[in-house]
Amino acid sequence: MGFKKYRGTVDTVETARMAHRVLDIGCMRCGHTASRWAYKIEQRGALWGQLPLGKPVRGFYCNECRCRVWVILMATGPWDG
Ligand SMILES: [Zn+2]
Repeated sequence: MGFKKYRGTVDTVETARMAHRVLDIGCMRCGHTASRWAYKIEQRGALWGQLPLGKPVRGFYCNECRCRVWVILMATGPWDG
């Protein structure tokens, strides 16, 4: 795809997007986990790119709880290496 490999620290949605990573979005209420490409989260707006990984953040919708919840974002994919 021609993107340059990012070698810095991946600790926010923005840097995860630069590293072309997928994020696990873990609900702190029920434990349900969903996966999203970091760039798709960042597309929601500038503030979303600043969200930290590995810390509680709110504003994500959980399909199990059927409401907006606190979540932990973790970089996982891409699964194809
Ligand atoms: Zn939930």
